[in-house]
Amino acid sequence: MTSDTDFARIAQQRDAVLSHISKTSLLAGREDKATLVAVSKVQPDVRIDASLEAGQRIFGENRVQEAQNRWTERRVLYPDLKLHLIGPLQTNKAEAAVALFDVIETLDRPKLAKALAKAMRSQGRRPDMLIQVNTGAEPQKAGVLPDDLDDLLGLCVRLDLPIIGLMCIPPIKEPAGPHFALLAKLARARNLAVLSMGMSADYDVAIRFGATHVRIGSALFGARLSRT
Ligand SMILES: *Cc1c(COP(=O)(O)O)cnc(C)c1O
Repeated sequence: MTSDTDFARIAQQRDAVLSHISKTSLLAGREDKATLVAVSKVQPDVRIDASLEAGQRIFGENRVQEAQNRWTERRVLYPDLKLHLIGPLQTNKAEAAVALFDVIETLDRPKLAKALAKAMRSQGRRPDMLIQVNTGAEPQKAGVLPDDLDDLLGLCVRLDLPIIGLMCIPPIKEPAGPHFALLAKLARARNLAVLSMGMSADYDVAIRFGATHVRIGSALFGARLSRT
């Protein structure tokens, strides 16, 4: 059950984020505006239900199991939902990810590309996919290095994966702008239309650099209760 206060707060925060997205897109001279992916990971269910009531239909989750628990039933209630996987994917979860998600944003290595291709063949489902790029070349971070992007893309083409764009998470301690600029340049040179970049703290910057999708959690729902 969603209480009136939860609903009012979430609806109001969503309106504020959507209007900021519109304004920033317009100021950046863009004809399209960036799409809001509401990052629901670790948020309590009441907040998710409030945002569904407010009209939100595109959500991002970073763990397959958590997403299955939260969305398997809601997906039946809301047939127009679009679920994005935005966290690292293990190959042994490729089948489950293909079954649940509409967009997999974190394809970043050949072994995973092959596992996803196999899952798509066996299920006859074709979620869209983004390649995650490790623009800061951080050793602990997921994502393909910019220098290895073309090899991975070539493999994805051979495997007939529906790659529609690129995604990045800039290093936390650096200004995000140069990373967004790099991702936009990599995508443009390869004719990839979708750019998933920008989170609560920097989505206005990302939109200026051409983000088509911004992934926003805390600015929409409030602080996460535990794990980030
Ligand atoms: C958690 C997360 C977000 C959202 O972060 P906020 O700062 O809460 O907006 C966006 N992208 C990814 C990949 C995340 O894991």
